[in-house]
Amino acid sequence: MKQLIDSYNRKHTYLRISVTDRCNLRCNYCMPHGGIQLKKRSEMLTFDEIEQLSRLFASMGINKIRLTGGEPLVRKDLPELVQRLANIPGIRTLGMTTNGVLLKSFAHQLKQARLTNLNISLDTLRPSRFEMISGKQHFNDVIDGIYAALDAGIQLLKLNVVVMGGINDDELLDFVEFVQDKPINIRFIEYMPFKFNQWNHAKFVSFRRMMETISEKYKLEPVQSTDEHYVAKDYWISGLLGKISFITSISDHFCGTCNRIRLTADGSIKSCLFHSAEINLRSALRNGTPDDVISEMIQSAITAKPFGHPAAEELAQIENRSMIQIGG
Ligand code: SAM
Ligand code: SF4
Repeated sequence: MKQLIDSYNRKHTYLRISVTDRCNLRCNYCMPHGGIQLKKRSEMLTFDEIEQLSRLFASMGINKIRLTGGEPLVRKDLPELVQRLANIPGIRTLGMTTNGVLLKSFAHQLKQARLTNLNISLDTLRPSRFEMISGKQHFNDVIDGIYAALDAGIQLLKLNVVVMGGINDDELLDFVEFVQDKPINIRFIEYMPFKFNQWNHAKFVSFRRMMETISEKYKLEPVQSTDEHYVAKDYWISGLLGKISFITSISDHFCGTCNRIRLTADGSIKSCLFHSAEINLRSALRNGTPDDVISEMIQSAITAKPFGHPAAEELAQIENRSMIQIGG
């Protein structure tokens, strides 16, 4: 079997697929202030094309897929795609990241379609703040979505919280308390800079500062992961059903063990979130290019993958797609 190994000997086993650049929220740390130029529907990969590429990736050693966006649940018939990907031999983990707004209607279908991991993004437990961050009044829908996901019994549930200084960094303890009685892994994420995403130093809260705040009230016990590619720093708190993790992409990056590759909704391979180079596979797919040639295109994207990303100040300036157009 061909394997996706880059110039630094990193083996790639994890594919993130963005299924749309559309979204029903406008989170100000993700969606650029002036909005984005949406791709035409004809430019989006169809479910057949996503499945075909996923099979090819699986034949090259990918064993984990995560669907993202934009908001994946605004893509029509998304559970059908989940089911099709779950049937691909070699795919052991199939996850999705959602803002949760539409989750109440979809949670059970997603479980039935054999989604194994679900990350729900929620940056505040206060309705008025939710509207300030996301531009919409969907707080209650997201909370309903979280309970629906718990009820559906999806294997692994995580809550993504982007921590921003002066915006929601006073809610760390509230989030810890939120998972006191819920089997949910809270992931406090460092705010990553992109051009036009309103990042600045004052809004950046490092994982050490988050730890200090939580440690004022709780004892955080480190949990060692056995997965060499695992990116989170995990902790237990005695008496808490949920787990607490930190994603330290900026203050302590994990590029050295990166095993991820991204496929955008319009069919481009991005070897790194912060690297603007892309190889578009859509025309090749639509021209009937043989699989072995498409595999070579994928391999060349991997070969060109940089070792790591530059410092935060530089990331805030570089030309790149915005997060909503890549898929986090
Ligand atoms: N719409 C879905 C959602 O919000 O979960 C999926 C797409 S979103 C781009 C994926 C994840 O990226 C979300 O958890 C979001 O909070 C995170 N994200 C977006 N912009 C970010 C940034 N600048 N820094 C850190 N995380 C970010
Ligand atoms: Fe939409 Fe997710 Fe970006 Fe928020 S973080 S704007 S929900 S894609």
